[in-house]
Amino acid sequence: MINLLLLFCLNVTITIDDGPTKYTENIVKTLNQSYNGNVIFFITDRGVGQLNKYTNAIKEILYSGYEIGNHTFNHTSLSNYSCIESYKDDLLKVDNYMRQRFNYDIKYFRSPYGRMNNISIMAVEELDYNIVGWTLDISDKMLQDSDLKSIIKNSSRNDGCIILLHDNACTSKYIEKLLNILKTI
Ligand SMILES: [Zn+2]
Repeated sequence: MINLLLLFCLNVTITIDDGPTKYTENIVKTLNQSYNGNVIFFITDRGVGQLNKYTNAIKEILYSGYEIGNHTFNHTSLSNYSCIESYKDDLLKVDNYMRQRFNYDIKYFRSPYGRMNNISIMAVEELDYNIVGWTLDISDKMLQDSDLKSIIKNSSRNDGCIILLHDNACTSKYIEKLLNILKTI
């Protein structure tokens, strides 16, 4: 059975996809200063060596008490996987990296672009990950909007929300503004 997890639902969970990048450490630093809720970084290598290049950033994430989730190694289209094993191999590259480097067992998964098919569902099920969706996708454009507060207010639910952000320059620049808004809602 797939555990479709809408987790920590009584408050805000911040999830940050596509890192680690050169911006991750600053994002972590800002979270440490201005936020004490749940955070999950959904990491990927993108097939360009991102994981090895920014190992230090992952160390900072774990040291700060945040979770790491699997966002696939290659972050590529579902059509590139011909069978369950090929999708599983991709996931296991991230899994093994975290286990070997940090002795860390990944529990959470988020699919690139939020898309899944039978192959990926079966692979994720075999690895016993919890699939994490989101309730609020805060785009780079929204982050920069002067009326971010009412955007969040209008789309938040009473029982809490899972915010989706991306590990990039825009989030690095504006996450403090977002965290300050969250304190006032
Ligand atoms: Zn992604």
